Amino acid sequence: MRALVLDAARRPLRLAELPDPGPGPGQILLRVRACGVCRTDLHIVDGELTEPKIPLVPGHQIVGDVLEAGERFRAGERVGVPWLGWTDGDCQYCRSGRENLCDHARFTGYDVDGGYAELAVADERFCFPLPDEYPDEQAAPLLCAGLIGYRSLRLAGEGEMLGLYGFGASAHIICQVAVAQGRRVFAGTRAGDDETQEFARSLGAVWAGDAAEEPPEELDAVIVFAPVGALVPAALRAVRKGGTVVCAGIHMSDIPSFPYELLWGERVVRSVANLTRLDGDEFLALAPSVPVRTEVEVFPLEQGNEALERLRSGALRGAAVLVI
Ligand SMILES: [Zn+2]
Ligand SMILES: [Zn+2]
Repeated sequence: MRALVLDAARRPLRLAELPDPGPGPGQILLRVRACGVCRTDLHIVDGELTEPKIPLVPGHQIVGDVLEAGERFRAGERVGVPWLGWTDGDCQYCRSGRENLCDHARFTGYDVDGGYAELAVADERFCFPLPDEYPDEQAAPLLCAGLIGYRSLRLAGEGEMLGLYGFGASAHIICQVAVAQGRRVFAGTRAGDDETQEFARSLGAVWAGDAAEEPPEELDAVIVFAPVGALVPAALRAVRKGGTVVCAGIHMSDIPSFPYELLWGERVVRSVANLTRLDGDEFLALAPSVPVRTEVEVFPLEQGNEALERLRSGALRGAAVLVI
């Protein structure tokens, strides 16, 4: 099969011909139709996540057709493969409904090969059936940008006034969910990014502006999607007493020190790590009822490096997807 391979951090992915993977026990074999490009992939390629399997086929938002069936999925069925690829089912976290924190979790496109390829194998217990409403390339961003964004939204609480800082793949999905829930969304972007601010307004945000500046009203919660630590004190400044700042990314630049006063008043800063299968089931049932529409830029497999570069430079509108 053809695949994009990471040989070492900070090097472009290499288009390679690899042996076809064979499914192990509990795994299904998929013909990959589309694979979303996530900021986490960029953190892996850029060496900010330091322990990937090497060589690695990245990609953890896989939409594929089952070629070799398992017990749960039939041949020909369309399934989605997310970031959480395997857990031990046995550690204190798994046993308390927090498999996202499993001590021995394996992640798709990090510990095991992912979907920047023509074929992929996956543990079928961690795959999802996908709603029929979505074509392959539109479904792919639901699998991480959507799922982990949704977990972040849930952990942000029920407040009406919601900030989304960093308006990329996740925020453009979660903005639609939040608006449908009757919330008012305040979108923070890079300074002067008029195009993204306009995009946020077109999806229902009541305000869009520079994330480093204070929005015009006090917020109940902010989800920080951008990997920019300086936005954490900025977000704390924007939330009211009792408000929550959720850091949704897997990697962030250092958070600068800030006066305790910003945290005082029972404000909370928390991170969100990975996903549980329950998050996936809930979000994939919810998305078509909103209905969430994903805005995607499509690239052929050979242009994976270009897709990553568009994401790195902030030039993307919505999500990047490789179509295989
Ligand atoms: Zn576990
Ligand atoms: Zn991801």
